[in-house]
Amino acid sequence: MKRTFTCIVCPNGCEIDAEYEGTNVLSVTGNLCPKGKAYVTQELIDPRRTIASSVRVLGGTMPLASVRLNRPVPKDRIFDVMAEIRRKTMKAPVRIGDVVIDNVLGLGSDVVITKNVEKERA
Ligand code: SF4
Repeated sequence: MKRTFTCIVCPNGCEIDAEYEGTNVLSVTGNLCPKGKAYVTQELIDPRRTIASSVRVLGGTMPLASVRLNRPVPKDRIFDVMAEIRRKTMKAPVRIGDVVIDNVLGLGSDVVITKNVEKERA
């Protein structure tokens, strides 16, 4: 089979034309480095994504703090992870690197804060 993949490993975003059988990659063209072939293989076997979102913050100078996953999770679990993040509320202050959800849904990835939100002054 043939399919075009957009590699998301780095900002170059190479368009990779791949020929494969099942999960066996026969050939790739268009990738600027070997990570492209590894990415295509991963996409065929177990596609994964990281996500960025935001979490509610109570008592802060801003109502939301941005968050991200520290490791990619299976692509078909992204909506479940987003729902978990929506259920969560943090109390100000929050700091970059604070863990909002440890090992979210047992997927081996943590949801972490990526923006500081200070406590609102009374
Ligand atoms: S193939 Fe290499 S250079 Fe191209 S996007 Fe993937 S990691 Fe970046």
